[in-house]
Amino acid sequence: MKNQLFDLSGKVAVVTGGNGGIGLGMAQGMADAGAAIAVVGRNEAKSKAAVEDLRQRGVKAIAVATDVTDSSAVTAMVERVANELGRIDILVNNAGMSIRKPPHELELDEWSKVIDTNLTSAFMCSKAAYPALKASGRGKIINIGSMMSIFGASFAAAYAASKGGIVQYTRACANAWAPDNIQVNAILPGWIDTDLTRGARQQVSGLHDRVLARTPAGRWGAIDDFAGIAVFLASPASDFVTGTAIPVDGGYSVMV
Ligand code: NDP
Repeated sequence: MKNQLFDLSGKVAVVTGGNGGIGLGMAQGMADAGAAIAVVGRNEAKSKAAVEDLRQRGVKAIAVATDVTDSSAVTAMVERVANELGRIDILVNNAGMSIRKPPHELELDEWSKVIDTNLTSAFMCSKAAYPALKASGRGKIINIGSMMSIFGASFAAAYAASKGGIVQYTRACANAWAPDNIQVNAILPGWIDTDLTRGARQQVSGLHDRVLARTPAGRWGAIDDFAGIAVFLASPASDFVTGTAIPVDGGYSVMV
């Protein structure tokens, strides 16, 4: 018999940036727990491959090509998921990017691009999905922060601002939507091996070894490390957990 606490059978999850990296790791975990998945991203080839992987896990999966910085596209995406998969129970706001420069070299359009992609998109997706999450009777929102929600870095002014903002946005929504039985939590990944950090390792000298030295677990994270936390925060196991920001970082944030 399945453990009901972690069972996502019959649930529908929307994962922005679900076509690769941490988003795909979370989507795979939730699919293995029984959820149908809508993969949201711009790169249609990557989304197609992700959908094939998820379907092989025995669940329904669709790709919805969407730029999450475009508010009408976000509205259309939510409508399409509700029409094709019938409901929305879980929203994972994971799409993100960074532009690495000192704050005094960052242009306004670069600042806006990072804030729009990482923070404003979470606002737009959550607002658009709220009626469906409320109708589900047991809604879950998972927002993706970062170690930059806690720490700063000279090359990450806009990124850190967006990721600090996501934690405060999480707390506000947790308060607002508790009466609707929607739990809203954030995950703060440590340093994880993905396309995003492959770019960072090329641009920031010594980063790879600094992360290894400072992470008590002694390794970079893998996308599989996000399957369990996604299932926990999407499932009845976390029904009394809301407004939190949970590090998944191999101990990085508690290392002196
Ligand atoms: P990836 O670069 O592998 O994934 C980023 C994802 O976001 C892609 O699926 C991309 O899809 C999607 N995306 C980016 N911009 C948009 C957009 N405008 N519209 C729709 N989708 C978009 O990076 P990660 O997996 O590493 O990052 C995932 C999240 O985790 C991000 O929020 C990141 O900030 C966060 N994070 C990552 C850490 C790490 O060490 N890797 C550490 C801390 C936080 P597509 O290109 O198809 O649109």
